[in-house]
Amino acid sequence: MTSFTDLGLAADLCRAVDAEGYVTPTPIQAGAIPALLLGRDLLGIAQTGTGKTAAFALPVLQRLSQENRRAMPRSPRALILTPTRELALQIAECFQTYGRQLNLRHAVIFGGVGQGPQVTLLARGVDVLVATPGRLLDLMQQGHLRLSDVSVFILDEADRMLDMGFVRDVRKIVAAVPAKRQTMLFSATMPQEVTALANSLMSDPVRVEVTPPATTVERIEQRVMFVTRDDKRHLLANLLKAEGVGRAIVFTRTKHGANRVAEQLCKMGVPADAIHGNKSQNARQRALGDFRSGVLRTLVATDIAARGIDVDGITHVINFDLPVEPEAYVHRIGRTARAGAAGQALSFCDHDEVPYLQAIEKTIRRAVPVDHDHAWHAHGVAGRHAANQAAGRGSVRRSDRPSSSPSRSNNRNSSRSHSSSRVSEAGART
Ligand code: AMP
Repeated sequence: MTSFTDLGLAADLCRAVDAEGYVTPTPIQAGAIPALLLGRDLLGIAQTGTGKTAAFALPVLQRLSQENRRAMPRSPRALILTPTRELALQIAECFQTYGRQLNLRHAVIFGGVGQGPQVTLLARGVDVLVATPGRLLDLMQQGHLRLSDVSVFILDEADRMLDMGFVRDVRKIVAAVPAKRQTMLFSATMPQEVTALANSLMSDPVRVEVTPPATTVERIEQRVMFVTRDDKRHLLANLLKAEGVGRAIVFTRTKHGANRVAEQLCKMGVPADAIHGNKSQNARQRALGDFRSGVLRTLVATDIAARGIDVDGITHVINFDLPVEPEAYVHRIGRTARAGAAGQALSFCDHDEVPYLQAIEKTIRRAVPVDHDHAWHAHGVAGRHAANQAAGRGSVRRSDRPSSSPSRSNNRNSSRSHSSSRVSEAGART
């Protein structure tokens, strides 16, 4: 099995990860670290929880310590841009932990707090700067910071960054970083906007993709319910009122859809709230707090907003809309059956969503069992799906019996240790 030493990391860094109790590199680490140590650009398709922070932090620390020079005042040598204050703090903590034995300085800057202490830190000179875009630009414009010395630039959670409306800020910041640099972009999903951004930022990047394993999916009880678009809300309210639903996350494709579904549920007597990128950080945290404490049993979310949700005891994941990207299905349903709890994933599929269902079934390499026994079953939609299957447009194992019962094991841990990575040289353009 590969060790951190095999990846080419220096002894100081190997000792630091050893002290953290890491025995083997995670797939994203094994895929990314050797290429990054060679100075390549990287496109990392991975979400939080995969070990991606160490995947970029360790090579950055190694590179900076080998260059053997000090940071000039107000001129960081490595810049990590991340969308939220929480992530910025987490990343900075990793640099602190892994870099304990190295003579490098780091700082973290974000908005919502006084800028005085941040300005003082920058003036002393920092090697690694972790920042959210707004405050970074503010300090640059005031002359407290310049990016002309940055030789490594990392854009973390790029999809979330764009979802939160930071694209212009990101472009302004990139324009201030020298063109001759090493660039890394991490994103859990790759919508077109992120691909375009990746293409504009990087040259010939190595691509490392980490997907949760099919085995995780197999442990969750999944069902698909064919239904017309108009009937979805009735089916949803009915399901949520049934016994046995503890905590449920309902996924919609759009932010507007999330609001609408939450409102409809409230009107139908099911208290619910929505979280998505258009809501303020406070509103999101309030909804999440209520969900976590059990005040609120139903949360309606978009894929990206749901990323930060780490709540145990989710009994049901309901796909009100099927995701366009099949990988998102795997991420969504992985929210249930965590930490030994039982969980169900129910997916609504209307006429227009049949192709999405087929793409999902191909990705997870199995057919999702069909629930015909609900009051809003749409024969026409089921027929379209069956006809496509028969025409060979979906080549997966089919069984209408519910799959194996939900796992009793701890999925949170197993998902990391089992996840697999794909590394390719194809670059962001493919
Ligand atoms: P991240 O995806 O960077 O947020 O990391 C998720 C968690 O995994 C963090 O708590 C890390 O400390 C932990 N972690 C990162 N790399 C490893 C590893 N190789 N072995 C075990 N745990 C790790």
